[in-house]
Amino acid sequence: MTETAVRGQAGEVVLAAAGVTKHFPTGGRRSAAVHAVDGVDLALRAGQVVALVGESGSGKSTVARLLARLYLPTDGEVLLRGQRVTARRGGAFRAYCRRVQMIFQDPFASLNPVHTVRYTLTRSLRIHQSGLRGAELEAALRALLQRVQLQPERYVDKFPHELSGGQRQRVAIARALAADPEVLLADEPISMLDVSIRIGILNLLQDLRDRLGIAILYITHDIASARYFADEINVLYAGHVVESGDGESVTQQPAHPYTQLLVRSAPDPEQLGSTTGATGARGEPPSMLNPPAGCRFHPRCPFATDLCRTRKPELVAIGAGRTVACWGYARDAGGDRPDLGDARVAVPA
Ligand code: ADP
Ligand code: MG
Repeated sequence: MTETAVRGQAGEVVLAAAGVTKHFPTGGRRSAAVHAVDGVDLALRAGQVVALVGESGSGKSTVARLLARLYLPTDGEVLLRGQRVTARRGGAFRAYCRRVQMIFQDPFASLNPVHTVRYTLTRSLRIHQSGLRGAELEAALRALLQRVQLQPERYVDKFPHELSGGQRQRVAIARALAADPEVLLADEPISMLDVSIRIGILNLLQDLRDRLGIAILYITHDIASARYFADEINVLYAGHVVESGDGESVTQQPAHPYTQLLVRSAPDPEQLGSTTGATGARGEPPSMLNPPAGCRFHPRCPFATDLCRTRKPELVAIGAGRTVACWGYARDAGGDRPDLGDARVAVPA
């Protein structure tokens, strides 16, 4: 049996978010809340990388935490292989946490500085595979290090401070793999690493996707890296998915004015990490305490009409596997439909 077969059919939806919403109450006025995420749908498939791209504050980490059950949604739900996930404690919750693992931005913060690689990984193996002992445990430890392309004899007795950022992130990934997960939620896993080693970590994650059939959520502010790495891109703006589709066409023919802005502000889409996200883009993201009515992008959108300022556009299909939430593509918008000027994606007839 191949390793992929263990995870089931490639392309099968493993983890999904259906209309997930997270509002953080401010503790002040009763109704006041930070509208971090509003009605997001996502489907993570076995053997695929799905990217969630957006600038800082757009709600990316909150989506990851909702999927990891670190937060409970204000509305909507998370489905593991089609089953509603409700457990928050006990055996069912532990099983969920084993199947859905997170990788964080800062591998130094996520590794305990007083523990060696051996201690960290052995502990995780024991937690998740409690039967492992002696030579079997040692073999599993070596296999984990090899899987993240670290030579066991060279790294197993090192402390985090003796490792480079990239090596630390590999150990953090190995620790997640000790649980034998079906899903990896990688929250900006390369953004704190030197540009020169970023590609190595992305290649490693790709290898895990291909060889183990793991479903990967890749969170980034860098649409260029998403294009390089992801099978599907979802663009998040102020807690809403505004566009999704395959990486190639979303970056080559961005449909939403915000995606167009993101792509334009990436100086060289071939160059990983060359963009700082949309920080060079015109305008500022809105306050999530009081998000704009209608399309949340309208205050920054050169094409905005009254319709955009008052009614929220839903995601509509604009071709194979592509959706966009913009009135410019909605046929029922009538005469009020904004003129998207140089938008390059045709509205289907
Ligand atoms: P990103 O990861 O895209 O930078 P986050 O998901 O971290 O965005 O944050 C989205 C919004 O939610 C931000 O406005 C942030 O300040 C707010 N937020 C995130 N976590 C909390 C929290 N625990 N309590 C209150 N507000 C939060
Ligand atoms: Mg974040």
